[in-house]
Parts: sequence; structure tokens; C-alpha cells
Amino acid sequence: MKVGIVGAGMVGSAAGYALALRGGASEVVLVDRNLALATAQAEDIAHAVPFAHPCRISAGDYDALEGTDLVILAAGVAQKPGEDRLSLLSRNADVFAQVIDGVQRAAPEAMLLVASNPVDVMTDVALHASGLPPERVIGSGTILDTARFRSLLGGHLGVAPQSVHAYVLGEHGDSEVLAWAAARAGSEPVEHFAVQVGAAITGEVRARIDEGVRRAAYRIIEGKGATWYGIGAGLARIVQAVRDDQRAVLSVSMATPEVEGVRDVALSLPRVVGRAGVLATLMPELASDEATALRRSAEMLKETAEALG
Ligand code: ADP
Repeated sequence: MKVGIVGAGMVGSAAGYALALRGGASEVVLVDRNLALATAQAEDIAHAVPFAHPCRISAGDYDALEGTDLVILAAGVAQKPGEDRLSLLSRNADVFAQVIDGVQRAAPEAMLLVASNPVDVMTDVALHASGLPPERVIGSGTILDTARFRSLLGGHLGVAPQSVHAYVLGEHGDSEVLAWAAARAGSEPVEHFAVQVGAAITGEVRARIDEGVRRAAYRIIEGKGATWYGIGAGLARIVQAVRDDQRAVLSVSMATPEVEGVRDVALSLPRVVGRAGVLATLMPELASDEATALRRSAEMLKETAEALG
């Protein structure tokens, strides 16, 4: 599968590197308004290929995206000193309008995988700018938050994260919702599992895991300024689900007709992902406080998208 990446900064290049290491694509093309950067990133990643999987890595302009099945959108501009979030968002929406126009001239049918933050609102922007059906405009959403939730929960229970099924829903950000009531380990509700292995999920444990998931990006940003490896791997995971038509259940963002009474809002829910994009969306059973939190998260995202216009 030929994959395009627009935005060859930290996130875009980490996605390219993860694709090369995982063997997620036969060809990867990097595009950036800074062609020298895209060229250097492509050459650097290409040097990892002999140690990984066969994959052609190159850089180019939008024409080079011809024939791509999927394009990762990782372009964006940084916050100016004193700039508020909405103004930054509006500038990034302009970047997306320009980028999507370029992508669609070369590859009108390509699926779009949005990585730029705030990812849920940018997924909504990409949907409207592209005119593609919603199931073909996916945001990385909470794929990483879900992975972290499983990892921390698995760590507490003493089982592999692969044996934990639990999801983070809503916004990829402060208002996200850890869906505890629907969480399972080895097919058991996690509370039952926890009692059986003598590792009860107390309020303190729950608060620690919640904080560990919700504040992860803040801790990383404090130490290194931004995050890129985790999200790069998450993007490569989504690409693989598409390439191999895996029909894997992943928590990804997508414009959703209705969530907890909020209409037409892009956010994350567990979704079945395959070659055609999102094939189905699942609504986990929620405790009442979780449903309220999800509604608030959806309302907040909807307000931001509307403020953007
Ligand atoms: P991140 O950490 O999110 O990856 P970066 O600033 O490292 O952020 O990367 C964003 C990239 O997006 C930069 O390389 C920048 O040149 C690119 N970019 C910004 N605007 C455009 C645009 N209109 N078209 C293509 N690339 C763009």
C-alpha cells in the first residue's frame, strides 16, 4: 500500500519511521512545505529500511501522492506567543484546507488519517474540507490513551495489556473518558478479575490510572517539549488495520451522527477499522457518571468546532 504523509515534522516523520519498522506500507511519500526537511527525513528513515522491512521512502510535492491509498495529515503551525487556542486552531484549519486541496488533486480517493491536534476538531475540519464520506476521514483520536489505559490496568492486574479490553472515549485531551464499567480482562469485568487475583481496584488505584492516562502527554511535553514516538506507532497501527483489512476494533476519532444526545461531532469510540475505513462504531455500556462525562466531552468538542465556523 502506498501511504502519503503531509507534514514531515516530529509526528509525521515518527509515523514514517514506525511504518518502516512495522512493515506497514510498500511505499511512503513525505510532503512538507519545507521540502528540504521532508527530503532529509525521508533519507534518514530510508537508512533504517535495510534493518527493517522492504519499503520505498521518498519526499516530493503533492504530485508525488498520486496513487496513494491513505494520507496521514500531520501538518500544522505552532502557537505564537500570546495566541489563544481558537486563533491557533483557525490557522491550522487554513493549513488543512490548503493541504487537503493539494492531496485531493493528486489522490482524490485517498483515505485521510488525521494526526494534527486538536485531533477531533481537525478530523471534523478534514471531513468538511475533503467532502469524503465520514468513514474515510479518521483521526488518531484516543488510540494512544486506550493503549496506555490497557497498559496501566494490565500492570495493576498482573496480566498482559493484550488480555485487557478497555477504551478511552470522547476527546483526545482533558475531557476524555476512561470507560471503566465496560472494561474487561480475560472476558471478566475488571472488578471481578481484580478480586480473583487479589488486586482490588480501589478508588486510589482508579485515580492513579486515570491520572496516568490523562496526564501522560503533559509529563512528556514537560520533559521533551512534544510527543511523537507513541503517536507515530499508533498511526502505523491504524494504517496496518486498513492495509490488511483487519477489521480491528480501535478507538479512533470520526464524525459521529449522535453521541449522548450531541449531534454531528467528531470524537473517539471503539470502531471496526478495515480497508474501507470505519466499518462500524460500538457504544460501550457506560456507568451514569461516564455517560455524563462523555456528553460533556462531546458538547465541548461540538462548541469548539462551531466556534471555528
Ligand atoms: P509536530 O510535533 O506536530 O509534528 P512540527 O512543527 O514538528 O509539529 O511539524 C509540523 C510540520 O507541518 C512542519 O514540518 C511544517 O513545515 C509542516 N507544515 C505546516 N504548514 C504546512 C502546509 N501548509 N503544507 C505542508 N506542510 C506544512
